[in-house]
Amino acid sequence: MTTTPAINDTLPKLYCPSLTTYQRRETVTVHIGDTPLGSDYPIRIQSMTTVDTMDTEGSVQEVLRMVDAGCEYVRITAPSVKEAQNLDNIRKKLRSMGIQVPLVADIHFTPNAAELAARIVEKIRINPGNYADKKRFENIEYTDDSYQAELDRIREKFTPLVKICKEYGTAMRIGTNHGSLSDRIMSRYGDTPLGMVESALEFLRICEDLHFHNIVLSMKSSNTQVMVEAYRLLVQRMAGEGMRPYPLHLGVTEAGEADDGRIKSAVGIGTLLEDGLGDTIRVSLTEPPENEIPVARTLVQRYTHRTPHAAIEPVDTLPIDPFQYTRRHTRETYNIGGTNVPRVIADYSKIEITDRADLKPIGHFYLPLPDKWRMNDLGSDFIYTGKRPCPFMLPNGLKEILDYPEWRTTEDKVNRFPLIESTGWSEDMELSPVLNFIAGDIHSFTETFLLSVKDIPTVILWLRSNNRHAMPEMRRLFFRLLNLGINLPVIVQRSYADNLGDEFPLYSATDVGGLLIDGLGDGVVLSPEYQTEDKSARLKAAENFNNVAFGILQAARTRMSKTEFISCPSCGRTLFDLQETTAMIRKHTEHLKGLKIGIMGCIVNGPGEMADADYGYVGMGKDKIALYRGQNVVKRSVPSARAVDELIQLIREDGRWTDPEENPEV
Ligand code: SF4
Repeated sequence: MTTTPAINDTLPKLYCPSLTTYQRRETVTVHIGDTPLGSDYPIRIQSMTTVDTMDTEGSVQEVLRMVDAGCEYVRITAPSVKEAQNLDNIRKKLRSMGIQVPLVADIHFTPNAAELAARIVEKIRINPGNYADKKRFENIEYTDDSYQAELDRIREKFTPLVKICKEYGTAMRIGTNHGSLSDRIMSRYGDTPLGMVESALEFLRICEDLHFHNIVLSMKSSNTQVMVEAYRLLVQRMAGEGMRPYPLHLGVTEAGEADDGRIKSAVGIGTLLEDGLGDTIRVSLTEPPENEIPVARTLVQRYTHRTPHAAIEPVDTLPIDPFQYTRRHTRETYNIGGTNVPRVIADYSKIEITDRADLKPIGHFYLPLPDKWRMNDLGSDFIYTGKRPCPFMLPNGLKEILDYPEWRTTEDKVNRFPLIESTGWSEDMELSPVLNFIAGDIHSFTETFLLSVKDIPTVILWLRSNNRHAMPEMRRLFFRLLNLGINLPVIVQRSYADNLGDEFPLYSATDVGGLLIDGLGDGVVLSPEYQTEDKSARLKAAENFNNVAFGILQAARTRMSKTEFISCPSCGRTLFDLQETTAMIRKHTEHLKGLKIGIMGCIVNGPGEMADADYGYVGMGKDKIALYRGQNVVKRSVPSARAVDELIQLIREDGRWTDPEENPEV
């Protein structure tokens, strides 16, 4: 028997050039057609076609739309030799039209298709979890010798492809997916970031031995925590083994659609980009591939003007484990910190509340007839009203935060708490016996200040940043707290113009998600900077900000407040209309708070890729669906007309079904 290697042995925990100064990680250049990849070049944007690869005209038209939108590499699935062969027709047609975009063949299970495609297209993507292995879901005990024998077998199967890539100048992505690790890796390392990294390194070592270096790597997962940890660990391990710094392709798999898909992608991809990791990105949405491009571009463009930024005190040692999620230990204060889920605070400081209906955008509904308040799953926990106290009694679950001068003059000090500027703090000021928020930034929260408030049991820090490199500056403050052994809970506040459009969910998900992913932050305030005087427009923005705050917490896996849909982006293997089906399943199940439902286009990769879903809806043939409970198939060949009902029935049988609320407003 062998032992499983530990993550943190002798290697340092640092995984990027700097945790405090924005800087791209230096990489080698990978040559992919006429579009080189690596740190000497801009971060590239890519996507994948969804039409059948055998449909040459349809594929060409889709590629044209993608290129028009700004896609720099186009990936096309090649499930078998015939599709690999047809890449030649697609490529020739594109080239005859003057379209030079590099094509990437996506390979699972089929070395013969890979070896053919590597002679045709500019890049091959292989999945190390299934290139030389078939998944049997077996847990096998390996000795060092039997494990080595497996590695020898992989080398034998993989070497011909590497030689072809060398000969034809074809690039390769070794793309690990969390959900499709081989039985060998699962048996030895488990379903872990370390297993994902080792899965790629087994193949990378072979490439290095064969002096093949035109390589990109990826570590995708639909779990953003796992995804971020795996990329970081990959960088650390490659450096530790003295390998070349190969570029990274970033992506969150099966992110879903609409705002949820965008937020989830930003939490995973954005967190890594902040630390200078990532040379090409793909945002996987269950939408037409051209929709992915502007999202990717928005994420990437943010870093073109990141420097210069205000200096942040450097970090010598890392007080967190960047390879394993642990929530920062904080003292529970009222309902914040400790084991409480991170709280959402709605910022109404610039909205004049006059009517109970004004709270509807933040999930609190007043029903006049029974004279009762109801709250939906996205009901904020606190409302910050600044200088304008709410003129009526708030619902039970909602507490109010006022600026300190206003709080002092208020009578109700049971349901209202003060926000005190750290610059105005004094030891003998009147405090709430329950909760006192102290607002400041890394400059005002000095070591001396923090030590002076750390033992006041009602204090919560309210952290802001004006730095262009905001997330790392805020993270630096958390490191200060950790180094000082201070366990005060911290609320993270960020402000964004209310007219940012699509940039807002992506930026806020990066800024706040980047902290939550490392277990930092006990609450979030997203504050709109209004560009409008119109109250109804302000309320609409407040609703958007509230929804995005909950979305970020969910995407970072720190607070589940709605059903999570893990849907694949679809590709040439897809066996039904994924967008329509996802919308239909969402309609019936979106009230099932906390449940994870996978919706996958094919049975070849779907079950693996939906990873930790509670239930799965997977295409298994024309008009045939397989339903999964976790990783186990429980119903096969269900006609698609009945499949949603059967899925609901399955959830009912497990006692996890609740009927949707009858009141349509709630
Ligand atoms: S799960 Fe979806 S995206 Fe992945 S191979 Fe199957 S159909 Fe394509």
